[in-house]
Amino acid sequence: MRKRNVGDAVHLRGLIEISSHCARQCMYCGLRQANRALQRYRMTREEIFDCARQAEKLGYGTVVMQAGEDDLLTAEWIAEIVQWIKCETTLAVTLSLGERRFDELKLWRAAGADRYLLRFETSDAKLFHTIHPQRFPGGPDRLALLRQIKALGYEAGGGVMVGIPGQSFDSLAEDILTFRALDLDMIGIGPYIAHADTPLGSGALRPTILPFEQVPAVEGMVYKMIALARIVCPTANIPSTTALATINRLEGRKLGLKAGANVVMPNLSPTKYRRLYEIYPEKACIEESAIDCNQCLRGQIHSLGRFAGEGQGGRGAVETLASILPDVSSRFAQLQA
Ligand code: SAM
Ligand code: SF4
Repeated sequence: MRKRNVGDAVHLRGLIEISSHCARQCMYCGLRQANRALQRYRMTREEIFDCARQAEKLGYGTVVMQAGEDDLLTAEWIAEIVQWIKCETTLAVTLSLGERRFDELKLWRAAGADRYLLRFETSDAKLFHTIHPQRFPGGPDRLALLRQIKALGYEAGGGVMVGIPGQSFDSLAEDILTFRALDLDMIGIGPYIAHADTPLGSGALRPTILPFEQVPAVEGMVYKMIALARIVCPTANIPSTTALATINRLEGRKLGLKAGANVVMPNLSPTKYRRLYEIYPEKACIEESAIDCNQCLRGQIHSLGRFAGEGQGGRGAVETLASILPDVSSRFAQLQA
């Protein structure tokens, strides 16, 4: 299904973690505001530009700017950065800055942003509200926001964590149907990883459903979810996530790619900040430089007999080796004949 619908290419999206400040209190995430144990940072405009230049040098087609819900990342400041990247490089720009207002999303789209990532985490509304306190009463619903994001002309990315305490198999099945109902262009699926400095990870917040229904937070469940998402949403871009590499350092990313994923997200953030973007503990790829991550991921892609995609790799871009290397492919066909 993966090969037929999106080809053998694996697209590289350079991840820039631009700020670890967050005003939210998500019960599972190390960046939650109440976590005083974490030292916070915010990248400068120049540091972000350097990362974008580096992405282009390394041959990536996209940069993903991700952060907590940081009010000091003003809409205008982000718009200027997006505009600069779009004018100075050939990169696609993906934003992942949390639940932001419609007028902000609209401004960034007008500035040239191509894609927006906002996982809905679980389609079980009760569980979602338990682990995701609203910032303001009557705050936005993530599913509604994803529909607005699509309506603005972004490629929209949603996704879920697998193995959240209190998550049932029924709700996971519902998650897959929701990917389809939203017609998502990108689907991020990763394991839930307990963080001791959060209410969910420390056990202070307990699940309310029966234990026999609990989905385990194990890699096998994530591979199954990736495979099912690929079957139900055949042309979506699906990353093999850093969280998978965190729970299986040697094989996690490769097994995600083998299960149906076609995207990886090498980290471009300056090494000095990586440890501080501690969503969950023992995160993979925090000591390496951007160059190390590039080499490592390309090596993994080639070891699977696949190849790194060229260009921006938006949804529906089916690349085969023949399409990017026509001469070599026809020579190869002649030799085989
Ligand atoms: N603030 C933005 C948002 O919430 O969409 C973007 C940054 S947030 C850190 C990116 C993703 O990290 C979340 O959507 C969530 O799925 C994932 N995440 C956070 N805490 C996690 C945990 N303990 N285990 C696994 N994934 C986690
Ligand atoms: Fe903030 Fe996003 Fe983490 Fe929630 S998941 S605490 S919004 S960074």
